[in-house]
Amino acid sequence: MKTLIKNGLVVDPANLVQTHLNLLLEDGKIVAVTEEEPEADRVIDAAGKVVAPGFIDIHMHEDPVKDDKIQFCIFDAMLRMGVTTAVGGNCGINVYDPVKYLDLLERDGAPVNVMMFAGHQYYREAAGALDKYSPVTEEQRKMMKKGLEEALEAGCVGISYGLRYVPGTGREEFLDTASCCQKEHRLISAHVRDDEERVFGAVAEVAEAGKIFDIPVEISHIGSMAGFGQMEQLLKQVDGYRMNGMDITCDCYPYFAFSTRIGATTYDDGWLERYHCDYDACQLMEGKYKGQRCTPETFAEMRRDFPECLTVCYVMDQKDIRMAFSDPGVMLGSDGLIDNGQGHPRAAGSFPKFFADFVRDGSISLYDGIAKMTSIPAKRLGLADKGRLNVGADADVVVFDPEKIRDGATFDDPMLPPFGIDYVLIGGEIAAKDCRIVKGDLGTAIRKRS
Ligand SMILES: [Zn+2]
Repeated sequence: MKTLIKNGLVVDPANLVQTHLNLLLEDGKIVAVTEEEPEADRVIDAAGKVVAPGFIDIHMHEDPVKDDKIQFCIFDAMLRMGVTTAVGGNCGINVYDPVKYLDLLERDGAPVNVMMFAGHQYYREAAGALDKYSPVTEEQRKMMKKGLEEALEAGCVGISYGLRYVPGTGREEFLDTASCCQKEHRLISAHVRDDEERVFGAVAEVAEAGKIFDIPVEISHIGSMAGFGQMEQLLKQVDGYRMNGMDITCDCYPYFAFSTRIGATTYDDGWLERYHCDYDACQLMEGKYKGQRCTPETFAEMRRDFPECLTVCYVMDQKDIRMAFSDPGVMLGSDGLIDNGQGHPRAAGSFPKFFADFVRDGSISLYDGIAKMTSIPAKRLGLADKGRLNVGADADVVVFDPEKIRDGATFDDPMLPPFGIDYVLIGGEIAAKDCRIVKGDLGTAIRKRS
């Protein structure tokens, strides 16, 4: 089946292209990019629309597995917002053995293509270290390294850390596990150990591993780490590393509120002073107080009785988030996390919201915005045939209306689909049309091979 996408504005930063051209797709690949109108079985008229490589979400959290099947929900949301490749297993967390997860994706297909990080915390717990505040034994560390090495061998893209969530992780444990990435030059991504004024030292800790082992480093969701007045200094710090030879980049999601579980260390004593807020900055997204802002009493009760309860905390500085996105070294990553259909709207809204709030108001150009979700993450992940639209590239394409694209998801209803995305194609097939899924199994596992 040949598909022609004609008359659209092709924006392809990987190839330094922004111009009107026609794309011909066949057998999963882009087979022609031309001013002609070649014969095709199906024609998509993209007049007035933007034609971009399928978006790549470098930071999200995968759907759970039940009865040997992935319970697709967040990956559906990814597809509806134009994402064709998503990276799970972030912040040190896997919902399931990531190697088996890749197998399930391959066996059953998925709404989008998926890469996986091997999560440090997952392998820590698998080694029997269940106390997040305590260090691991030498025996446990060996087990963790063995598991992580096997995961990298099986095609996980790298190792993720959520040092904030596992305070017992000492320097030796961190560096020793990170060393697993050295052999194949794999990526480490880190939700760093601390935020606000202590973010600088926390980023330095992770950068040290990049320097020692000469491996690439990704600093996760910097808006929720340094979005409290520290952004300018943090970006300078990271620029400094890069100018001194380190391969380091950051990602950020386009919201001014973060989301985590109420039992997380984020809410350990001192959080009110740290984020300069009161209890009502925290909204409960699940359970009997669903939708309500916390009081000192409900906060204490839920932290004790329902520590898994997802919350949203409205504490970030808009200026800092804008500053992050204006930096060329910062990509868009949704950090999407959904539990039983509940959570933060970033899972279903990040990409369209970015166009609506940051591109349409002129603060970031269309070209630079698309680069943050195509060419830059593709390069970061070593994806040679994705995040680009040249002849020979994978036919993962998104067609959207630059004037109409916007998020639909809200804090009250975080799974609502977006608007203004006409087509999402994976491997040349139509996966979503008008923000509704047409075919939800066109994606597969992408295994990292050295
Ligand atoms: Zn995180």
